[in-house]
Amino acid sequence: SLADKSELCSNSSFLNSSVPSYKSFSNIPWLETLNLDGYFSFDDIEHAAKDFGNRYHFQPSAVLYPKSVADISSTIKYIFDMGSTSEITVAARGHGHSVQGQAQAHRGIIINMESLQGTEMRIHMGETPYVDVSGGELWINVLHETGKYGLAPKSWTDYLHLTVGGTLSNAGISGQAFRHGPQINNVYQLEVITGKGEAITCSEQQNADLFYGVLGGLGQFGIITRAVVSLERAPKMVKWIRVLYYEFSKLSNDQEYLISSEKSFDYIEGFVIINRTGLLNNWRTSFSPKDPLQASQFISDGRTLYCLEIAKYFNPDESDIMNQKTEELLSELSYIPSTLLMSEVSYVEFLDRVHVSETKLRTKGLWEVPHPWMNLLIPRSKISEFAQEVFGNIRSEGSNGPILIYPVNKSKWNNRTSLITPAENIFYIVAFLSSAAPSSTGKDGLQQILTQNQKILDFCAKANLGVKQYLPHYGKQEEWQAHFGTQWEVFVQRKSTYDPYAILAPGQRIFRRK
Ligand code: FAD
Repeated sequence: SLADKSELCSNSSFLNSSVPSYKSFSNIPWLETLNLDGYFSFDDIEHAAKDFGNRYHFQPSAVLYPKSVADISSTIKYIFDMGSTSEITVAARGHGHSVQGQAQAHRGIIINMESLQGTEMRIHMGETPYVDVSGGELWINVLHETGKYGLAPKSWTDYLHLTVGGTLSNAGISGQAFRHGPQINNVYQLEVITGKGEAITCSEQQNADLFYGVLGGLGQFGIITRAVVSLERAPKMVKWIRVLYYEFSKLSNDQEYLISSEKSFDYIEGFVIINRTGLLNNWRTSFSPKDPLQASQFISDGRTLYCLEIAKYFNPDESDIMNQKTEELLSELSYIPSTLLMSEVSYVEFLDRVHVSETKLRTKGLWEVPHPWMNLLIPRSKISEFAQEVFGNIRSEGSNGPILIYPVNKSKWNNRTSLITPAENIFYIVAFLSSAAPSSTGKDGLQQILTQNQKILDFCAKANLGVKQYLPHYGKQEEWQAHFGTQWEVFVQRKSTYDPYAILAPGQRIFRRK
């Protein structure tokens, strides 16, 4: 279903005369000799040196705005052919929503993957529907386009203004992952440009080593230019529910029960609320309490609370049966009864919910602040020890952003991808999504948050919890080696096969350019 490889690689294009003028750039003079459909720019290197984390700012030498897959392959091929005589590295930049410079390349070349977006999305209906989409496409556009056919991908991230290639290089985890696995589990085929500049189509049946290597491979083995993503029938509506607990153990028991049950909700997440008041009132603009009188008597009062967030998909003509199933499932849970809040929204509104917060934060100038985020994967057997120390002690004074916490079941996840997870079958995703107040030196300042993050990591190491980082970030190769554990050798082997000069994704800081 992918376009023919040779066609994609044919490079009979010409230099587009309508593009911004070239400045002479002594660092990489040969750029001007490449025949491209798109163009290089030297004007917006500052933008390419920024990401959502807003902490790392490595300036590249140039930004490629590709208009074809051939633009990417010929650029990389040129660099590969120079071998170790060049130090140039290349980073694909999706939507730049990494938090530690992972999509940056100091003095290298950034490939602005969103320029490839213009390529048509091809939707295949039939028994196993799928969409064949550019690696630079945003998931929000995939949702809108597939929705026209009554279809949608099965597994999402909480926020959809991220690119297909960017999330598939990590995993793409959200409240559907307990059932469908992460996004990397829902891909049939990829087209990849390796660190040698070759365009290779890969899947479970064809070039499987590259296929699984690239999925969750942190951009190390190739640039994803197209992905064939599996689809399902899209529901029209979502019943969206939040309930609260005083004890973490009750939340986790209910979450684990729900992720193990066949007839469960369609989305299961949760979060921790530390030191907040007026909670239910704040949520009332989007949710209505099941029992308004009881809810008005509930006082959050700064106590640590745990929220279960769940959703059931439905179509308007199935509303009665959905309500009945929801009631049945809720009756088996042990949340605080007065805190049952519900809402009915369209499927698109539900999936694009974080964008609403983004818009609000942007208007207050609070979106482009430093984001010292930390995502951990914690084995089930250690989660209560973790919760006790982290929520009861290290973070007991509050958090500077949401702390998500929810379990997933690895039996639904393909273990052949490059993603590293804890050894146990059930593990928790714990996401500390902090925002730092720009010039504060107080509790909401960047340094304080980083210190707390480090305290959490130190505790995990000391208590030997078997934690793995998601969207990992390390400074030393020994740490990467420890992260990959028994998978390290395979990872190194794949690097030497597909990107022997370590040209790709230098911002991950795993390998040095050879
Ligand atoms: P970038 O940041 O641009 O790139 C990430 C890495 O992938 C870089 O190393 C880059 O070089 C490489 N890369 C980019 N494109 C390609 C490509 N086409 N081929 C190969 N390599 C490529 N993650 C989740 O799993 N679940 C969530 O719910 C979730 N929510 C988020 C919410 C917000 C508000 C933000 C900012 C991030 C969230 N993330 C979540 C993290 C997100 O998935 C990663 O940061 C992802 O990398 C962002 O995608 P991007 O397109 O911005 O990639």
